[in-house]
Amino acid sequence: MRATKDTTRIRSLLLRWYRKHARAFPWREASAGAYLILVSEIMLQQTQAPRVAELLPAFLDRFPSVHHLAQATNAEVIRAWKGLGYNNRALRLRDAARAIVADHGGSIPRDPELLITLPGIGPYAAASIAAFAFDVPTVVVDVNVRRVYSRLASPQPLTTDLLPDDMVRQFGSHMLPRRTPPSEWYNAVMELGATVCMARRTACEACPLSSVCPSAHTITVPTGRTSATSRGRTPEPMFRGEPRRLWRGRIVAALHQHPEGRTRSAVIREVFTSLEPIDVSFVDDLLDRLIKDGLLQRIGQRYRLHE
Ligand code: SF4
Repeated sequence: MRATKDTTRIRSLLLRWYRKHARAFPWREASAGAYLILVSEIMLQQTQAPRVAELLPAFLDRFPSVHHLAQATNAEVIRAWKGLGYNNRALRLRDAARAIVADHGGSIPRDPELLITLPGIGPYAAASIAAFAFDVPTVVVDVNVRRVYSRLASPQPLTTDLLPDDMVRQFGSHMLPRRTPPSEWYNAVMELGATVCMARRTACEACPLSSVCPSAHTITVPTGRTSATSRGRTPEPMFRGEPRRLWRGRIVAALHQHPEGRTRSAVIREVFTSLEPIDVSFVDDLLDRLIKDGLLQRIGQRYRLHE
């Protein structure tokens, strides 16, 4: 797929809009170095930007450099990750810092091919860190970029319609400006996707690209709900109407202030507070998985954050 003949116009309209409407975030500041970009990219994978902006400074105070982070124990980095959820990411980020120190002399690689060899860094994160930290002109495709590019590349009847990944990448490679830093370009596309051209709602009437977008004003929200299963994803196990990951996070949070650890009964009392009978096998499965993931350890009858 080729970029539309309006490529130049799309670029200039979007960049002009972004320079006027961009939300201020630490990772968008000119002074944001590669380390801040690396940390924020991992945080942003599954946590909303305003929440990351709120918690990032404390994490950076605690671990001001890749060398400090590399020396952190599991428990130390999990505590510093408090409030961000998906605690496994904290351990993978620390492991990436260790690999950067051990294999790259403490300098974060700029080449996506090297970045992807770091623990916890997948293809998206590698491209994203290269683009945002070093302005490497690479194709970055996250959920926001994919959605916006799909709608700009060809008319999309429904908000759930997306182009295949290879077509999005081809369009993205044509769309990437030659004279604008890739970091600014991707911030602009992602900002549009986060605030105007959203997953379930499109504000075409307020969009700077409505005059050049083939989906403008015609794209509609599908009727009826599409379940995770029908979209091909395995539904997350639930307990008391809430996904398992929330219960995992609550157990880890409950152990933050107890370096001496807590018994299973104490964990159950604190986390599963209702008077309903508790399914102990569910709790044991959660605890076992948290131990396997390196987040907890068991000392005798007590569970604590992995030191
Ligand atoms: S005009 Fe509508 S569909 Fe097109 S990019 Fe803007 S918000 Fe998205």
